Amino acid sequence: MDQQGLDGRIAIVTGGGAGIGAASAMALAQAGATVVINHRPRDSSREAAEKQVAAIAEQGGSAVAMPADVSDEAQIETLFAQTIERFGKLDILVNNAGIEKPADFDQMTLADWNAVMDVNLTGQFLCARAAVRHFKTRKPDNGDVRAVGNIVFISSVHEVIPWAFQTNYAASKGGVMLLMKSLAQEVAPYKIRVNSIAPGAIRTKINKEAWDSKEKLAELVKLIPYGRIGEPEDVGRAVRWLASDDSDYVTGTTLFVDGGMTLYPGFRGAG
Ligand code: NAD
Repeated sequence: MDQQGLDGRIAIVTGGGAGIGAASAMALAQAGATVVINHRPRDSSREAAEKQVAAIAEQGGSAVAMPADVSDEAQIETLFAQTIERFGKLDILVNNAGIEKPADFDQMTLADWNAVMDVNLTGQFLCARAAVRHFKTRKPDNGDVRAVGNIVFISSVHEVIPWAFQTNYAASKGGVMLLMKSLAQEVAPYKIRVNSIAPGAIRTKINKEAWDSKEKLAELVKLIPYGRIGEPEDVGRAVRWLASDDSDYVTGTTLFVDGGMTLYPGFRGAG
């Protein structure tokens, strides 16, 4: 494995068996971290997480799979307690798990609204809180030069781009933006770093409908000045950087990994 600065670090990646989470887990492991790949307790995500553990092991890296529904307070407390008990500490949280439940606004059920908020916003709160509780018990172990803990929220370009028919999702990611910034402001004096990555259109199953035919992909790419859909590894590399000491002076910021989607490409040559 490459060693890019995360030797000896312990990381949790929520929803790390698929898509952006899986690529983030791989990138962190390639840099030397031991990764806890969290997965939903009941469904195929357990097998996906175990597959990713095996893929990391094949490359000489270190990972384990651990169940917990991010929206369940007791399960998250257990996930963090078991991680710290097993590995002695936690250094990095990648708050990745997320879902979509699109609907016309007037047809959106309270269950659809709550499901998205529970995972995308409350889940990120519960995991960040568990991480901060642990990080606050740690002392900087290298003078003043590095953080005692690091949280990377996976937000979305929809923390700033409004999204019709996905009002629950956009509201959850807008919430993540100010959760991240307010938390970063609060815990910076403890040398805890908190940032977000806002992916644009990344090729995963969450948005399969937007890229699974040539025609749809061509429509999607019109929104992306850089001219291609993103791959999970594009986000994984950014996660690795934000989780490493190379970004030590970066906190409270959103890094857009979107091929320029937030540059309002419709205005190119117009307006
Ligand atoms: P994905 O559907 O491939 O992965 C989502 C992961 O979250 C899966 O592993 C799933 O099992 C897990 N998950 C869902 N609910 C969970 C729960 N309650 N507890 C634990 N795990 C749970 O999609 P993805 O694109 O990899 O999404 C990852 C994150 O990236 C999400 O937060 C999503 O909003 C965000 N994002 C994705 C894109 C994109 O274009 N793919 C763009 C912007 C933001």
